Amino acid sequence: MEYPVGVMDSVRSQRLIDHHCHGVVRRDLSRVDFERLLCEADGPGPWHGSLFDTHVGLAIRRYCAPLLDLARHASPEDYLSRRTELGHAEVARRMLSASGIDEFLVDTGLTDDDLTTVAELAALAGGRGRHVVRLERVAEQVVRTCTADEYADAFAVTLADATEGATAVKSIAAYRCGLDLRPDRPTPAEVARAAARWRDEIGNGAGVRLTDETLIRHGIWTGLDGGRPLQLHVGYGDRDADLRRGDPLLLTPLLRATVDAGVPVMLLHTYPFHRQAGYLAQVYDHVFVDVGLTLHNVGPRGRVVLAELLELAPFGSVLFSTDAYGLPELYAVGATMFRQALSAVLLTGLNAGYWSKPDADRFAGMICVGNAERAYSLLPAAVSSPRPPP
Ligand SMILES: [Zn+2]
Repeated sequence: MEYPVGVMDSVRSQRLIDHHCHGVVRRDLSRVDFERLLCEADGPGPWHGSLFDTHVGLAIRRYCAPLLDLARHASPEDYLSRRTELGHAEVARRMLSASGIDEFLVDTGLTDDDLTTVAELAALAGGRGRHVVRLERVAEQVVRTCTADEYADAFAVTLADATEGATAVKSIAAYRCGLDLRPDRPTPAEVARAAARWRDEIGNGAGVRLTDETLIRHGIWTGLDGGRPLQLHVGYGDRDADLRRGDPLLLTPLLRATVDAGVPVMLLHTYPFHRQAGYLAQVYDHVFVDVGLTLHNVGPRGRVVLAELLELAPFGSVLFSTDAYGLPELYAVGATMFRQALSAVLLTGLNAGYWSKPDADRFAGMICVGNAERAYSLLPAAVSSPRPPP
């Protein structure tokens, strides 16, 4: 990857662990389909026009065009036609290897047959992949297979199976009931009552989609029992998310209640609440934070957003992620924008005399790799693939 002058060597050369990401699409894409995957909008529209005219669209033309042998800032038409000429698999290989990411913690909760598996994604990068299990999806698998009284036990057994070999669990409570979760573990009677209500709704024709706060909270506590780190969607997301209910400060009672559980809690994305998230990471030892998805969507402002996260978040509590989904380009631009932003933050402190060069280099290693290794206890990979031939 070609970086502007000024990116620190210790950031440029770091390998990266992407602690929250998804598969990429295994087919060639039309322009509309490509634009649908660019950012959190549903797609191009009659009013906002082409989504190439966004920071992420511009970043792809700037940083990904040269990876496809085109000049920087190639037009969207030239970019997409070259993409089709090379084919999706070759494009994905080029983007993923340019990202410098060699370890992927993949949220496999989105069901789309067009997406690469964890092993396929890792193979494209010549890296390692690990699974992250979505708690709400496990609940949705379980609810139709048991009675309301059996629900809690069935959930625990199914989750134990699903997390065999997995690295973490994840909740999308923010999308379903909001983050204003009660702190206590629901009682067996509360779980059975809530499961009965949900089963009735499904029986009356409602879709199988978990939105009940009690059952979501039950899933989170059962997930914590398994001892795996808990990822929580926070803030920025697509229009299914109600951003008013995505402020991480709403999680304060739950974070207070889980501080001694011995399990790290990862607040994902966090924008535009990244300052609140940084505060939580400072006051709760078990809280980790990132601004994944955000950095490649805010363009040159990424350095400001990351600096704001790091106003209060300890350097040992910040993680890297792309939250790439669908387009392999999002891995390349996510990693590039992150390296630029991190380098800018570290150089600012270095030039102002706030820390030394060895400190800056050490922070780079922590935020790119070391914090994730510690937080997730990353041992030899669950799914690993040799580097593909060039
Ligand atoms: Zn995400």
